[in-house]
Amino acid sequence: MLTARTKTGKTICLGYDYKKETLLSFREKEEFICPVCSEGVTLKLGEQRIFHFAHKRGGTCNEFHDGETEIHMEGKLQLYHWLRNQNIPAILEYYDQEIHQRPDIMFNYHGKKYALEYQCSPLPEQIFNKRTRTYLQNGYTPLWILSNDHLHFKKSNIVSLANFDYLFLRTSAAGTLYIPTYCPEKRLFHFINSIIPFSVKNAFAGHTVYRLEQMDLQRLLEPGSTFKKLTFTSWEAELDQFKLNWSLNPGAHSNRFLHELYNQNMNLFLLPAEIGLPVPHSLFFQTSTIVWQTYLFLDVLADKNPGDMVTLNEISSQIKRRIKRKELSIRRMPQLEKVNVMVPVNEYLYLLELLGILSKWDETTFQLRQKIKIPMSNREKEEAQFFLQQKIKTISSK
Ligand SMILES: [Zn+2]
Repeated sequence: MLTARTKTGKTICLGYDYKKETLLSFREKEEFICPVCSEGVTLKLGEQRIFHFAHKRGGTCNEFHDGETEIHMEGKLQLYHWLRNQNIPAILEYYDQEIHQRPDIMFNYHGKKYALEYQCSPLPEQIFNKRTRTYLQNGYTPLWILSNDHLHFKKSNIVSLANFDYLFLRTSAAGTLYIPTYCPEKRLFHFINSIIPFSVKNAFAGHTVYRLEQMDLQRLLEPGSTFKKLTFTSWEAELDQFKLNWSLNPGAHSNRFLHELYNQNMNLFLLPAEIGLPVPHSLFFQTSTIVWQTYLFLDVLADKNPGDMVTLNEISSQIKRRIKRKELSIRRMPQLEKVNVMVPVNEYLYLLELLGILSKWDETTFQLRQKIKIPMSNREKEEAQFFLQQKIKTISSK
């Protein structure tokens, strides 16, 4: 930790660049205590590590454990200096007595109070959620920044994201969804945006990198949209690969979704071309796109004939039923105000409307214009895919 109190109540913050001699003389004269547990801490002034305070052995403080990594201390120091250099009032390791929480950095900006947490080590999701909720309930805007070590790009536009990484997803006021990460060694911010998952773990995503010096707080909070167009062919290719891996997975035989397909006389490799389409908010589901779109087809569209009505109510109650049975799940992203899976569903319905499958009747009702066909052979599937690609090209060139 980088902030402690003296017995006389003075706060010593190592974020101010004290000279070593000054700190040595502090150490001679003062006894330091932890602001959280009030136990004694030692000021460490070694050559190997950043100057810091450490609990004396046997301490029971759970807020600061001495296992705090160098990279974490380095990162929060850099971010703290970065804010101060922009004349933003910031306090390092501010301990809020009322909520018993201590963000890495607390700062005020445009009349709002922020709690910045720079996270290097994995944190149980429960604790992450509880801290975030407490911040939100007490007038803080949480700003979680992930250590960049957590990011794994499989290709330049494909990133592997664990459920933990999605906890860091935030939104700009303009609605851009992004995950901010920071690397103190290279002094670089990375933004992951336009995230469109094709499986629970892997997603197409945009990736922008900024040097610390080029970046200001405004841009960190409002990064603007850098939406990259996704080509249908690369999407299809990844989706096919995903289906293949999935079917070869040893757990496939016990997979409920694959079982249901089988019982419906359907096959993972012969799904209608309209199932598994990318939509901007599909990350709201923690279930892969193929699965929720297949369920929508089976539960609502498959038994209907052209001219029949499809209501949002009907769709929503089918989705709720699937969620209750744990066949669909909603992604937990505590920094977003609301995660409503009807958002991606509506985007999908709109796409089906553009493709001529549905037409909008009124605000909550669609009419089926054309049945979605299940291909009977690979040839039929390829034809359907080709046909769909042509349609999408025409739509997106309009
Ligand atoms: Zn303590």
